[in-house]
Amino acid sequence: MNANSATPTDQPRVLVSGGGIGGNAVALQLLRAGIRATVVERADAPRPGGQAVDLRGPSSEVAQRMGLMPGIRKHQLDERGIVMVDSDGKELLRMPAEMFDGKGAVAEIELTRGDLNQVLLDALAEAGGVDYRYGEWITEISQDDTGVEVTFASGGTERFDILIGADGLHSATRRLAFGPEEEFSTYLGGYMSFFTLPTPAGTEDNWFTMNSLVGATSVGLRPDYDPSTCKAIITMRTDADSTLRRDIPAQQQMIRERLTGGGRIATTVSDAMAAAGDFYFDELARIDMPTYSKGRVVLLGDAGYCGSPLTGQGTAMALVGAYVLAGEIVSNAGDPARALGRYEEVLRPFVATAQELPPGGLKAMTPKSRFGIRAGHLVSRLMTAKIMKPLMMKMLSGTDAYDLPDYAVQTIG
Ligand SMILES: Cc1cc2nc3c(=O)[nH]c(=O)nc-3n(C[C@H](O)[C@H](O)[C@H](O)COP(=O)(O)OP(=O)(O)OC[C@H]3O[C@@H](n4cnc5c(N)ncnc54)[C@H](O)[C@@H]3O)c2cc1C
Repeated sequence: MNANSATPTDQPRVLVSGGGIGGNAVALQLLRAGIRATVVERADAPRPGGQAVDLRGPSSEVAQRMGLMPGIRKHQLDERGIVMVDSDGKELLRMPAEMFDGKGAVAEIELTRGDLNQVLLDALAEAGGVDYRYGEWITEISQDDTGVEVTFASGGTERFDILIGADGLHSATRRLAFGPEEEFSTYLGGYMSFFTLPTPAGTEDNWFTMNSLVGATSVGLRPDYDPSTCKAIITMRTDADSTLRRDIPAQQQMIRERLTGGGRIATTVSDAMAAAGDFYFDELARIDMPTYSKGRVVLLGDAGYCGSPLTGQGTAMALVGAYVLAGEIVSNAGDPARALGRYEEVLRPFVATAQELPPGGLKAMTPKSRFGIRAGHLVSRLMTAKIMKPLMMKMLSGTDAYDLPDYAVQTIG
């Protein structure tokens, strides 16, 4: 063992880049095992926003093992299923959550992404807190056999035993340690946007209302924990346009154009967008890494294996990934190479299934023409037929078979 590397009696110094779901979850598990990580988050405060995210199968098991359920239950949404409507608001099809035993688009546990992040931050504070630095990010990384030297935007340089890149789809850690985003990212054919708006009059309580519009666009309203607000979700199929990145006026203009003439929900969403305090817009993309780690730098969540919101598994992958990564770092505290190798070995089978897109992918979700929309509804109706249930359940239970290792939180020292 190298003299400078961590031994079971000295805690590894861990830096986490990104205070999202993956970053906060891994910091929490490490803290409980006696490793007080440093977390740098580029935003100036916890990022609000995001609509309902799903926890099911292994990710709900991880949430339980991490003791997050009391916090989650406080914010859990009472979402009863999906109702598809036309542009006049007329109901076309209703799919209650129990139709697929909580394994369909509406899962057994739903809460908003912002609320889940807050549950993690509260748990971190309760466990004693970590060295959390908002408005900070990494500008340079250099590593050798004994550690990673990191330069921060604020100017300082520090050395760590392990650097965890949990900084999302457009991860800077991945770019600095592995190479440009284009090498690992596959555009999946469109963009998605989420934001909070006052619940429009006439919205059915506790149901996810969806409307497919002519022009490869869908717009929906999902319940929020506070019934006076709800979450808009807009999905658009289109060619990639790199000029949209970070250009919020251009993103909102694109959405406005897509929603024009789309009826009641589309108009309400379009009108509310500019005032939203948590407007989120990003491309739909998948990240495939040949390896999750390089030396002592390791990727977690969207940074390493984004599947896009189309999979409904982004949060699940970040939570399960954080649990496995922390478990392996703690179990192999003196041997980062072994810990990061084991993390990849254990997690890859889960990721392979979780990254799979639903049948038909984005095309099926956003038909172009009136005919396509009608055909889509027909397919959805067929899927909900009793006779189809065994096949549907098989398709929807992909990650359930994953054998989640048991990492009892072990303390070091
Ligand atoms: C505001 C927001 C809303 C979202 N809403 C939804 C949604 O409604 N539905 C859905 O399916 N998915 C949504 N996502 C994506 C979803 O959170 C992830 O797919 C999933 O939870 C995996 O989490 P992650 O921790 O890997 O990434 P993320 O949750 O994206 O977190 C990454 C974090 O890293 C931070 N960051 C970025 N760059 C840097 C940097 N250079 N240095 C330091 N920090 C950095 C970001 O500010 C963010 O806090 C949203 C993400 C965000 C940030």
